Amino acid sequence: MQTFDTIESFRKHVSGYRNPGKTIGFVPTMGALHTGHLALVRRCKQENGLAVCSIYVNPTQFNNPEDLRNYPRTLEADRQLLQEAGCDVLFAPTDAEMYPQAPHLKMDFGSLETVLEGKFRTGHFNGVGLVVAKLFHIVQPDTAYFGQKDLQQCLVIRRLIRDLSFPIEMKIHPTVREADGLAMSSRNRRLTPAQRAAAPLLYQALSMAGQVLAGGGTVEAATKTVETHLSQSGEIRLEYFEVADSQNLSGITSAVVVPPYALCIAAHLGLVRLIDNILVEP
Ligand code: AMP
Repeated sequence: MQTFDTIESFRKHVSGYRNPGKTIGFVPTMGALHTGHLALVRRCKQENGLAVCSIYVNPTQFNNPEDLRNYPRTLEADRQLLQEAGCDVLFAPTDAEMYPQAPHLKMDFGSLETVLEGKFRTGHFNGVGLVVAKLFHIVQPDTAYFGQKDLQQCLVIRRLIRDLSFPIEMKIHPTVREADGLAMSSRNRRLTPAQRAAAPLLYQALSMAGQVLAGGGTVEAATKTVETHLSQSGEIRLEYFEVADSQNLSGITSAVVVPPYALCIAAHLGLVRLIDNILVEP
């Protein structure tokens, strides 16, 4: 695996691989890699001639400076993991390379960015859209891989690809979980042992809410189930639980909920904020 930290050196290297017979797959990440990221990288390598990964902790998508400062950075360990997973080329730029000047472009994803995460992380999806558009221009992949764990991000990027006519196929990979159900996340490594022990309650609560709805229960009953389940731990502060249309993530409050829909949750465990979701298909 070769690593590049400038756009020019990366482009020069990858241009040698661009030919009609060999597709380029791309997995953008912020590093601190875990098995979930590596599942995307392995799939990318299986499905493409060249597997490209990026590691960049993008400041424009952090609305909380503390979260940006504390975001784990483990480049050397990440390089090793990527190599083992079959990544061919790593792009790991500096802030100066990505943003030589503060960016002015603003992206508006409409109602997609005012619900769920958007309500609590002002400007987050503008930052995500900006950096992913830049990375798409730099890497010019045929296919790009994203995790269902960040469901709202997937829908934002689907819209970005469509609105800007990127000739890129997007593939969404299912959420990879720990044995106890906790969705893998770079932020999990910042949990204290007590918080880590409580964290699986999030996925349990989502699954229980899914059962309530599948059994004909209301959104209100599902919400109550989630709140009750999480209240058994003093470590978890629920930020939101919502039942949402899985196509546009608008909230569903009607008495009867018909699939497809998404159950989405965000919660704070001490200083760590975790999100998770499950999709319910017809
Ligand atoms: P991040 O480094 O958090 O920006 O994540 C990079 C990519 O990996 C995003 O597309 C995430 O949705 C995806 N990802 C993160 N965690 C998981 C997981 N547990 N399972 C599947 N994909 C994931």
